[in-house]
Amino acid sequence: MQTIKERYESVNERIANAANKVGRSTSNIHLIAVTKHATVDEVRQLIDLGHSDFGENRLQHFTQLAAQIDEYVGRRKELGEPDLANSIRWHFIGHLQRNKCRRVLPLTRLIHTLDSLRLAEEIQEVAEKRNQVIEVLLQTNISRERQKTGIAPAAVGYLLEQLATMSCIKPRGMMCMAPTGEDQEESRPIFTRCQELFEEMKLDKHSGDAFNILSMGMSNDFEVAIECGANIVRVGSALFGENLVVA
Ligand SMILES: *Cc1c(COP(=O)(O)O)cnc(C)c1O
Repeated sequence: MQTIKERYESVNERIANAANKVGRSTSNIHLIAVTKHATVDEVRQLIDLGHSDFGENRLQHFTQLAAQIDEYVGRRKELGEPDLANSIRWHFIGHLQRNKCRRVLPLTRLIHTLDSLRLAEEIQEVAEKRNQVIEVLLQTNISRERQKTGIAPAAVGYLLEQLATMSCIKPRGMMCMAPTGEDQEESRPIFTRCQELFEEMKLDKHSGDAFNILSMGMSNDFEVAIECGANIVRVGSALFGENLVVA
């Protein structure tokens, strides 16, 4: 069995190879370690290896893990190690229900899954009360027949226009998912289409200057995503394996 360190190195190497292949610099590609099948101990190990971006899609596991990691970071600091409190970043990558915003916002650096105007309105309301500006990605449903969540590509411009009126939401870019097939080439047309739409939306007058994140690619297809311009990849099982953790 491979250790977390070996898996982490191997994922980073794969990222570097994919970037090299298309002449991109790895410094512009951020790895988010998706913790849904990870134990606290495995997350701690990644932190000790210097990793700081983590993503969760289930609120229950998210709140537990974030609290446990907070504690760990506090203990490290007491032992005289560098204070990581402000460098650990949590990303929310699951489908976000409106009634969960109140719990997700305080923990989250970036929400990858804004998928409707109604959700945006709720996020705005919660963020305003908290005096917080929350950064979001617009989750776009490129392969429409295969999945349910996400905004239709043709509606992304309209949602951006609405977001421009919401003072506590800062659109940072787009996120998409490809159907998980055996062959990562199946994801290429979807990632390519998403990148085209992303480039188009960057030029939209409502997207703002901070609209520069393209989050796509998971364990089975992140290399293709990088070739298609992703600057965030969300990787779970390649780092932590497939073992199920009971939430
Ligand atoms: C689980 C998950 C991932 C990571 O998937 P792996 O195939 O385990 O790498 C990425 N993005 C989202 C939205 C997920 O739910």
